[in-house]
This record gives sequence, C-alpha cells and structure tokens, in this order.
Amino acid sequence: MTRCNTGIVVLAALLFGSCASQTTQTGSDRSVHPLNLVVVTIDTLRPDHLGCYGYSRIETPNLDSLARRGVLFETAVAQTPLTPPSHASIFTGQYPTVHHVRNTGGFILQSSARPLARILQENGWNTAAFVSSAVLKRVFGFSNGFDTYDDHMPKPGKGNEFREDPERAAGDTVARAVDWLNNQSGKPYFLWVHLYDPHLPYNPPGAFKEKYKNAPYDGEIAYTDQQLGTLFGAVEKKAPGKTIIAVLSDHGESLSDHGEYTHGVFLYDSTLRIAFMMAGPGVPVGVRVKQQVRSVDFLPTVLKLLDLKSPENIQGISLVPTFSGGIAPTEVSYEETLYPKLSMGWSELRGVRTNKWMYIRAPKPELYDLVHDPREEINVIQQHPAEVQKFEAQLNNVISPGRNSSSEKVETNLVDQRMMDQLKSLGYLSGFAPRSYELTGQGTDPKDRVDVLRLLYLAEEAQVNISEAKRVQLLQQALDEDPNSPSLYYQLGSEFEKTGRQEQALKLYRVALQRGVENGRLHSRIADLCLRKGNKDEAIAEYEKAAQFNPSDVESQTNLGTAYLEKGRVADAERVFKWILATDEDSAAADNGLGLVAIQKRDLTTARDRFQKAVELDPELVEAHMNLGLLYEMAGDRERARAQFEAFLAKASPVQYAGIIPKVKQELTSLQ
Ligand SMILES: [Zn+2]
Repeated sequence: MTRCNTGIVVLAALLFGSCASQTTQTGSDRSVHPLNLVVVTIDTLRPDHLGCYGYSRIETPNLDSLARRGVLFETAVAQTPLTPPSHASIFTGQYPTVHHVRNTGGFILQSSARPLARILQENGWNTAAFVSSAVLKRVFGFSNGFDTYDDHMPKPGKGNEFREDPERAAGDTVARAVDWLNNQSGKPYFLWVHLYDPHLPYNPPGAFKEKYKNAPYDGEIAYTDQQLGTLFGAVEKKAPGKTIIAVLSDHGESLSDHGEYTHGVFLYDSTLRIAFMMAGPGVPVGVRVKQQVRSVDFLPTVLKLLDLKSPENIQGISLVPTFSGGIAPTEVSYEETLYPKLSMGWSELRGVRTNKWMYIRAPKPELYDLVHDPREEINVIQQHPAEVQKFEAQLNNVISPGRNSSSEKVETNLVDQRMMDQLKSLGYLSGFAPRSYELTGQGTDPKDRVDVLRLLYLAEEAQVNISEAKRVQLLQQALDEDPNSPSLYYQLGSEFEKTGRQEQALKLYRVALQRGVENGRLHSRIADLCLRKGNKDEAIAEYEKAAQFNPSDVESQTNLGTAYLEKGRVADAERVFKWILATDEDSAAADNGLGLVAIQKRDLTTARDRFQKAVELDPELVEAHMNLGLLYEMAGDRERARAQFEAFLAKASPVQYAGIIPKVKQELTSLQ
C-alpha cells in the first residue's frame, strides 16, 4: 500500500511538472511550487528617476521590462529613510518600533527576529545574500537565516579612509551572486542582492560617466540597471519560469528638495517614496497598483505568493488582493527618522502618511495635502485640527501601544541577547554602556538647520574643485552654528586627519567629549591617533572605552587586541580576538591575531592554522601572509615560505609597510 502511494506521488509530481511547464505563461500557476525568490534592494533609489515610473531622461530597460512583466506599485513608501532600519522593515514586516533597528549604526537586528531568510531557510530554501555596503555587514544582524552572507567590501581607496560605509560596485556584487546562482543544484533558493551605487558619492563608471555627465546620480542608476540585466538573465537561464523577482529601494534621495541633499533627516516623499515591483509565477502581467503600499507589506506579500504563513506580530499586510483590483488595508503608514536626534543632536521626526495626507510630528508640526500639493510645499496644519488629532493618536498607538504616550525611551543596542552569554564566558562581565535617548519630539527642529545641511553638503558632498582649506572652513562654520552635533565633529576631525593635522583632530575630539558628545566612535578615533603617536597605554584605555560603547566595532577591537599583544598582555589579546570571532566568525584579522597569540604561547601548529585561515578568508590581509611565511621558513618549508612572502610583497602598501618590505625582500633572497 505504502509503496503504491509513493508511486502515485512521484507520478503525480511528474505529471504536474509537465503540465506546469506548459501553463506557466499564465503567470498564476500554483503547481510549480516551491518557487525561487530573488529580492534586489537598490539603495537610495528615487522611483521618479526610473523609466517605468515616468522619467524620460534615463535608460533603465531591465527594470522597465520587469515592471511590464509583473506588478508595479506606483505609490510605495519606506517606513524610514535610513538603510539598516528600512531593510529591517522590508525583511521582518515590522515597524522600527517593533524590530528595534532605529538608526544607521548603533543598533542590530536581534537574532530572535524572524526575517524572511530565516523563514525560508526553515522551510527548506537555500539562502544567500550579497550586500554592497558596510552598513549591512553581518555584525548588524542581517545575516540571520542566510546560509551564505557575502559582505566582503574592498578596502576604501585614498580619500575615503574615513568613510563609514565602504561600498562594493554593482558589477562585483552581481558577479558573485551569479556565481552562487550557477552553483545551485535544484533546491529552491532565496537570493538577496543589495546594490549601493546610487548612494553618494555619485560616480558612475565607464560610459555612464560620459553619458550622464550632468546627472551623475542618474548615471549610477542606469549602471545599476545594466548590471541587473546580467542578474535577471542568469536567473531566467537557471530555472525558466520558476522564480519570483522583486525589486525595491530602501528609500529615495532628496537631491536638494526641502533643503536636504541626501536622505535621513526629513520625512518627505523625496526620500520616503520607493520603487517597488515584482514579477514571476503568481504575479499578473502588466498591473500598476495605485494605492499607497508600505515596505512592511513586502514580507507578507511574498510569503503569500510562496504559500507560506506570515509570522505573528507584523504590521504589514499581503498586497496580493491589489493584483486583481482589490484593496489592501494599507492606508496608514507609520514613518520615523531618529537620525536627526541620534546623529545630529536635533529632534527626531515621526509621521503618518496616507493616500491623501502627510502629517509630520516635529517641534513645528506639518501637514500636507498630497493630492493637491504633492511636492509638500504648503503646510495646512492650521486648517485641519481634527485630522491632526487623529494622526497624533495613531502615532501614540505605534509608539506606546495601549499607553497613549507620545514619548519613548530608546537605547542603542549593539549586542545580541544570545551573544551576551558568550560574552560573559569571554570575561566581558563589566557589561556595556548603551546610550539612552528620551524621544519627546522636542528640541531643535531639523528644518531650522537646513543651513547646516547646506554647509555639510558643500564641504563633503559637492566635492568638486574645492580646496582642503575651504572644506575645513565650511565644516568649522557648521560646527560654530551647531556645537552639539556629533556628526560634525567626526567630519571636521576626518578633514584634519586626512591632511595630517593629527594634533588638531585630537584636540577637537577631546572638545567633543567635554561637551558631552560621547560615544564609541569618538573614543576609537582618539585611540587610533594615540596609537599613531606611539602612545600605547592611552590608546588601550581609549579602545577599551570604545568597546564598551560599541562592542561590534571590529576594527577598533582588532586594534585593541594588537595593542595588548604589543604590550605583552597575551591573555587580554586572546579574549578580545575571541570576542571578535564571536561577533564575526569570518574575521580574518581575528584569526591573524589568534595566530600571534598562539606564537606567544609557543603553539606553532595552532598559529599556522590560524594564519592559513586568515589568508583564506581575506587574501588582502598581507600581515597574515607574512606571518605564515615566517612560520614556514622556521619549519624549513622554503617553497611555501617563498610563496607567502611573494604574496605579501605583491599586495603590501609601500607606505604602510615601508619598514617591513625590505626585510621581507631580504628573506626572500635568502630563500632563492
Ligand atoms: Zn539606504
């Protein structure tokens, strides 16, 4: 009986399989499950700069074609104009007040979250992610549920050493994703590709630079579209008709609207509106949905298409009914940005967006009639008190469900709860010092600081043809106007450091500390400068403080471990390197550090294994090549020693390793 049943099941699968291949063109065949899913998030992409959203001055044939083959949401909005919080909303279906990722840096997505990748992995999908900015590195929790999480960023080039967000070009990210795709063996898969090119700096490559000479932001978008052509082609070739492709942006870009140049400070449509489209089995062809939809609606929509249940406690709603002209109840969209408060020292902003209204809670609140005033230029708050009252109640309901409070206490959160146990076992019993913020909606209104935004833009973003001295002057002017803004200290300090004025930078960071602008980044900057002056004790003290504020800052932790080693504090070094590996198991620097620790303990076998792992994880980590070479040389393995020394010499920066390169060359000669 059992054998007979199995036979029928197999036969049924074969029959349905052959039917499916004939019927997938209808786009709604359910028997091809389980389907593959490809999600592309494009950073900083304004929908009104795409052909399929009606923009005529750009060529985006691949996205336009995807939109024609599927559903395009004409009025889609993000919950927040910030990269990590917005991605967390896309993948969890939750508002930031629920998933707790509230700003870029300072917050991680907790491992207790159940993002899309986790759900699909648990249901048997192979999962892989290829991200293009350091702000989405695995330490921030986004790797939850991914079998493969490729967040390898090239080292920032000259002039970009102090960038918080090293990035990888779309061509590189897509090539790696296609490689992975081509190695898939038939199990359903979920692939997330994140592309960062439209984000500042606008510097399109090759022909796009020339073609979009006067619109470099558009050039980056056109380049991104070209790379997507490669990705979409590979997807279709791999499994024709069996893959849902979804594309959405995490937020837009202000491009000087409302006195903002980039994104993150304000809650206007310039940065809240996102591109959002999908195509594939179950998605009808050529549908354009007009009603407002939100990024939290993405998760329940794809789960519905994949025949999977949505988790509890999400704020999003499946948009599948809108595919056939129905209505999904997505009228109220909660919006927030904590960036002005946490990074600039101003007031945070919150808002409610509907199909008709945008209400912004700010020290000076705003209300716009989006139907008659889509550019949000006429504040009509005085004329509509009843609407305002309703939106205020809706906001309080999101901020403090059941309590009707308008204020909220937020703590930075950089340690995963589950990781806390590991932490204790590594001797971090003193705990961390999260920063705590009382969000009351009061303080400096960001719109009263557009002059500071302009100075910042002129100094940092409009980088063409301005002298270093002018740049410093602009930043100094911004700081004089706004002496409590953490960001301004970093930016001015970076300018000092780039031009070799280390003492001035150090002095500035100390002034910031005196003024109460305290956080991990300031301490790690001071520590780096102390280290460069050879003042190891002070560097160690500052790195230790930095680690308390920001235990996920792998770079500072690595420097701390190295400084411990140099001071002979081997046990402390070992603790720090093990901690790094606990937060980032693929940290080549930590393996290299533990190799050095092993040498101190005369355990050469462990040392060699660690260095070997380090060079495998990151072939660019030249120190590990050198260390490995020395170990092979000691063991009398001349051939392997030579290979490692050669690898070191091929990649080591002549400036950074000026003192070591001649010695390695000498060793190499003696090995010939
Ligand atoms: Zn972003």
